[in-house]
Amino acid sequence: MSRIAYVNGLYVPHAEAVVHVEDRGYQFADGVYEVCEVRGGHMVDERRHMERLVRSLNEIRIRLPMPLAALGVVLRETVRRNRVRNGFVYLQVTRGVARRDHYFPDPETPPSIVVTARAADPAKGEAVAAQGIAIITVPDNRWERVDIKTVGLLPNVLAKEAARQAGAREAWFVDRDGNVTEGGSTNAWIVTGDGKLVTRPAESGILRGITRTVIMEVAEKLQLRVEERAFTVKEALGAREAFVTSATNFATPVVRIDGQSIGDGKPGPVARALRENFHKVAEIAR
Ligand code: PMP
Repeated sequence: MSRIAYVNGLYVPHAEAVVHVEDRGYQFADGVYEVCEVRGGHMVDERRHMERLVRSLNEIRIRLPMPLAALGVVLRETVRRNRVRNGFVYLQVTRGVARRDHYFPDPETPPSIVVTARAADPAKGEAVAAQGIAIITVPDNRWERVDIKTVGLLPNVLAKEAARQAGAREAWFVDRDGNVTEGGSTNAWIVTGDGKLVTRPAESGILRGITRTVIMEVAEKLQLRVEERAFTVKEALGAREAFVTSATNFATPVVRIDGQSIGDGKPGPVARALRENFHKVAEIAR
């Protein structure tokens, strides 16, 4: 079955899904995106992802190119046309096509919208989580506005490739004070010796992950305590457990940081419980 993408009002075969060379997303990374899980053919936490999209767009002053309800229809239609049962839907909005110039284009310039959907085998993710992942740490060299989900992901790309070359799956960014901010495409968590979950406050240095928010609710249901505070690499190395969260990973245990085992070097019970209960709390609109 051929894949279909939505590009600026049209559903087109994936191979023909192209944007103009002067799209500002292409030239300036002048755009934002969202990735939403698809489970059983339905989007997971669509409402929260759309809320964050609106926030990201507002922060960089791109107008929402169509009403949210219409955007929801496009997302669902892209999922449907690609016959995705389990996988992900990707949405990107840029400031549109205009002659290359740093200043914003004419306000009438329509924002560009691209939506793609892709199937993913849930069993593969489960196999990764069952093993746990290795991560490395790298200096956080990103700009301050990482709260905006922009398509400008070069530091994240370089960090994740460095992780892969080191035999790891994710890189944790570390700020100047030695505190972990977040992963290249995930939020970072540890479990302390007395069983508390610790993750960095979303007020600075990180993207407020939708999965991070939902995992906090899962933690509450499981009567686990969550502490939003900064933690250092040293504290993480001595933690009982560590894990990462994202729409594509849910909660995935971290078993090695910079080559050192965390806890007993195996996925821990807290991360496993959070993962198992994630979809009982996440919103799935049917
Ligand atoms: N931080 C970064 C830098 C990310 O790219 C992502 C994934 N989009 C996350 C955190 C996790 O966010 P979410 O749970 O909304 O997928």
